[in-house]
Amino acid sequence: MKILIIEDEPSIADGLKFNFEQEGYETRVVNDGPSALGLLLDGPFLFDLIVLDLMLPGMSGYEICKEIRGFSENIPIMVLSARSSSEDKAHAFDCGADQYVTKPFDLNEVLSRVRNLFKWRKPDSSDSNQAPPQTVDVYQFDDVMVDCPKFQVTVKGELFTLTTMEVQLLRYFLENQGIVLSRSRIMENVWGQSAEITTRTIDNFVMRLRRIIEPDSSKPRYILSVRGTGYKFIKVQAP
Ligand code: CA
Repeated sequence: MKILIIEDEPSIADGLKFNFEQEGYETRVVNDGPSALGLLLDGPFLFDLIVLDLMLPGMSGYEICKEIRGFSENIPIMVLSARSSSEDKAHAFDCGADQYVTKPFDLNEVLSRVRNLFKWRKPDSSDSNQAPPQTVDVYQFDDVMVDCPKFQVTVKGELFTLTTMEVQLLRYFLENQGIVLSRSRIMENVWGQSAEITTRTIDNFVMRLRRIIEPDSSKPRYILSVRGTGYKFIKVQAP
């Protein structure tokens, strides 16, 4: 999945880029409308999402939005703007924006919205003969409670907030208990086929989850390593 970030504030652009890349997405940052339109029209890049600031030098986000809609009706456009009036939002939607998030924004909210956008776009590429698994929102085992919609894990009463992909990965483990999951299977099912991540990324995510849910992350009892393959999640501790 590739995201085009159109943002002239370097700290915001860098923060978004970093976090999107942490989640396995590919990004490209430009800081004005003409560069963005040039990329979209001429470049070999096909983007899956555009994250757009409104107050930009030269050409406003509204104008950029309208221009993009002139040649692409489908690409999702998420506006991130400090402008918070209902008129601004209405105008952005009139110009063709799909989503509007007010700055300062909650990063988890942005990541969750991005994930949901991509979920919508998935059916054209993924195999349709596979029924979606039943998903549960809250899981509990031993002293651990996982609340997926809230991106929260409580361990012995202590609260931790996860990123979107951490929740997705943990949920995948919980839905596939006792099954040996290869890294490539995890990559395909959690990040999606087009994710530009390496197996090392998965190991890093597992390490982070272990630090949260394992009583001793150096001797994991829930997320076990399966040598040469990947991981296996078990909920019940061997006596
Ligand atoms: Ca700006």
